[in-house]
Amino acid sequence: MTEPLIPKALQETLRGKPVCIHASMRSFRPRIDADALLDAVLDIDCTILVPAFTYALEQPPPPDGVPDRNGMDVDSARAAPGHDRRYDARGDTLSLADMGALPQAVLRRARERGEHPLNSFAAIGPLARDLIGRQTLQNVYGPFDGLLEHDGLVVLAGVGCTSMTLVHFAEERAGRRLFQRWAKDRDGRLVACATGSCSVAFDRFEPVLEGPSVDVSGSTWRILDANAATRAATDAILADASITACGRRSCLRCRDAVAGGPVPATPHS
Ligand SMILES: [Zn+2]
Repeated sequence: MTEPLIPKALQETLRGKPVCIHASMRSFRPRIDADALLDAVLDIDCTILVPAFTYALEQPPPPDGVPDRNGMDVDSARAAPGHDRRYDARGDTLSLADMGALPQAVLRRARERGEHPLNSFAAIGPLARDLIGRQTLQNVYGPFDGLLEHDGLVVLAGVGCTSMTLVHFAEERAGRRLFQRWAKDRDGRLVACATGSCSVAFDRFEPVLEGPSVDVSGSTWRILDANAATRAATDAILADASITACGRRSCLRCRDAVAGGPVPATPHS
């Protein structure tokens, strides 16, 4: 009898839960493919949630409606060429090099995918519709609200905190407004959507986001309670906003995120 991919004790921890998984498929030895991992997670009745972002669909900002402190040089962003690529949640386009093979495998199956042209989430399992239905253009991290509500977990499978999208959700919980970016929807309309900031410095959250680690076929998995992790990351940001700053002078997103994000538009009197 062959050993299960996910050890029995870990199966019991994960069983039936919604789980946001960030995985490096290269961390498994011997290598396995993403479908084998996906099958192992779905076999224990989990709902798997993954980011399935599509950075290449971003468009230059429109002439009006760009908030101040939006983490960009507006003039040079407006000078960038536009294009006609559109977002369609029914399709399986994603930024493969950044997202990896697991989200790609999710998108190729029957799944739910959020209506967010740049930072969509995708999910498979009993709670998929519940989690993904919460994502809107401006509520990009709505699926994490669902993950917390359903007592879900985050799994870092052979990756560190720089891959952990939940930290962006913690930035929002700590009171930061999210940057506005633009893309074309299915009908070709330019829409504004809230997006995440720079995650280059998220390795600073390593001591904040410790959790039990389990060997899964050579890959070291860290298992985090989503509620506790959100609280810990939010508290760390509230204690020191600069924890998220990557330190690169050229990074306008970090500069503006630490300052609180975009300035809300003041209504005309
Ligand atoms: Zn940065």
